[in-house]
Amino acid sequence: MTRAYNFCSGPAMIPTEVLERVKSEILDWNNIGASAFEISHRGKDYLEKVIEPAEHHFRQLLNIPKNYHVLFTSFGASHHFAMVPLNLLDRSKNNTACYIDSGIWSGKAIKEAQRYGNIILKKFEDFKSQSDYSYIHYTPNETIEGIQFHDIPKTGDVPLVADMSSEILSKPIDIKKFGLIYAGAQKNIAPAGLSLVIMRDDLVGFAKSFTPTLYNYKTYVDSQSLYHTPNTFGIYLAGLAFEWLLKQGGVEAITKINQRKAQKLYDYLDSTDFYKNSVDKKYRSVMNIVFYTPNAELDKLFVEESTKAHLINLKGHKAVGGLRASIYNAMPEAGVDALINFMKDFEKRYA
Ligand SMILES: *Cc1c(COP(=O)(O)O)cnc(C)c1O
Repeated sequence: MTRAYNFCSGPAMIPTEVLERVKSEILDWNNIGASAFEISHRGKDYLEKVIEPAEHHFRQLLNIPKNYHVLFTSFGASHHFAMVPLNLLDRSKNNTACYIDSGIWSGKAIKEAQRYGNIILKKFEDFKSQSDYSYIHYTPNETIEGIQFHDIPKTGDVPLVADMSSEILSKPIDIKKFGLIYAGAQKNIAPAGLSLVIMRDDLVGFAKSFTPTLYNYKTYVDSQSLYHTPNTFGIYLAGLAFEWLLKQGGVEAITKINQRKAQKLYDYLDSTDFYKNSVDKKYRSVMNIVFYTPNAELDKLFVEESTKAHLINLKGHKAVGGLRASIYNAMPEAGVDALINFMKDFEKRYA
């Protein structure tokens, strides 16, 4: 068996050590004669050995203050595109929020929010906070275009909401600067079908009256995320991934590795005329690196040949074309080195 270096944008690579642990526990977890996801989510075993430690370790990793709730929601990040406006728009009398319009994912969040209220659109560069906004939403890492905003927008008293799907746990963040953070698990944490929410407690309880129960964040707050059967497998795996990250030295340690990985790849891209990356240097993503060979045919050949070399899922998103290397926490530095060596060799053969 050869495990490839998997550059998929999501569902993304999960650390091999985490999968090995799942493998060793899948038939008999903690001597109960069943796996962690074949037992009641309300039983003592699941509560005390899965969901509570997962929350505890997640709080520890991101240094989450006590006045923030952590919620496990059993669906993807896209559900929050509707949940955020349904839960927060009514904080202001005029039903208004501001969205930073920076790419395909923020665009999808905007489209959904527009169904429920007045949505003011701004670019990251010319955004200014206004007190009549219920909240301000942005997407710090645009996964598809490979654009990342390294500074947090200043929003004053207006709660800042962030879709952190493709950067959560990749670097330390000052949670106090945010009102609500949501993130799908399948990029930097666990398999798809689970998302995590960090929500300041004073923002709970503003949902529009017609909000469905499972779209109301208060439902998750009041039930410890157990109003209905959660994604028991996803939460179990997220818990293992948190333990893995703590063992690596936590978010502070991984951020150094992440920066080194990205820097190596960008340095190489900058050193050659064969490959191109068109993102403004100050907005280059540390997680998703989009690049192009001189033409679409070579891009296609690059995908074919890299796949044979066990460097998989390097095809860019269809909306932007080209190639994309997603190098989340689970991608070892050796994977990036292998990619750069392959790129050099490919350039030599086709330049
Ligand atoms: C992947 C991604 C999503 C969508 O996640 P789903 O779980 O498929 O709904 C949303 N936002 C960002 C920034 C993403 O990268």
